[in-house]
Amino acid sequence: MTIAIYPGSFDPITNGHLDVVVRAAQLFEKLIIGVYDTPGKGLMFTTEERVELARQTIADLANVTVQPFSGLTVDFACKVGAKAMVRGLRVSADFEWEFDMAMMNRRLDPELELVCFMAGPEFQFLSSSLLKEVSRLGGNVDDLVSGHVAQALRRKVHGKM
Ligand code: ADP
Repeated sequence: MTIAIYPGSFDPITNGHLDVVVRAAQLFEKLIIGVYDTPGKGLMFTTEERVELARQTIADLANVTVQPFSGLTVDFACKVGAKAMVRGLRVSADFEWEFDMAMMNRRLDPELELVCFMAGPEFQFLSSSLLKEVSRLGGNVDDLVSGHVAQALRRKVHGKM
């Protein structure tokens, strides 16, 4: 069975992430979304909340699961038996960082293959950071996330979560 991981912060998971997940799930027999437990940036949602929101968002996809992880991504891939790592690329924002990280990961584990999906045209502009910023300022982002995430953002922004 070819297993792939899709690691990220998913703070929170967006329709851009979901588009990559759906496409990757058609290519691999099993896809595991790995939610970083300790990324070095300010987060809106806790690890448990990010995992739960991702689980609710991918609930209809039979071969996709979600797990939190900490430490090196290559170690997580090894632990779950993944042969490939999936990432998404937006037109201007992602390539250089993804390239550096891919080279480093290749040194750490030459066996783990990187598979990048070009973001769908309708999701090129979409990032979790921008989404949170617009949400905090009272903008409506309902068509960019699942219903569960839209609700969670509203609760978070209004201080009830
Ligand atoms: P990270 O902290 O690893 O960047 P993110 O949750 O921001 O975590 O992103 C996880 C992966 O999803 C990255 O490969 C990122 O480039 C990709 N990604 C983020 N937003 C989109 C989008 N709108 N369309 C396609 N891929 C995306």
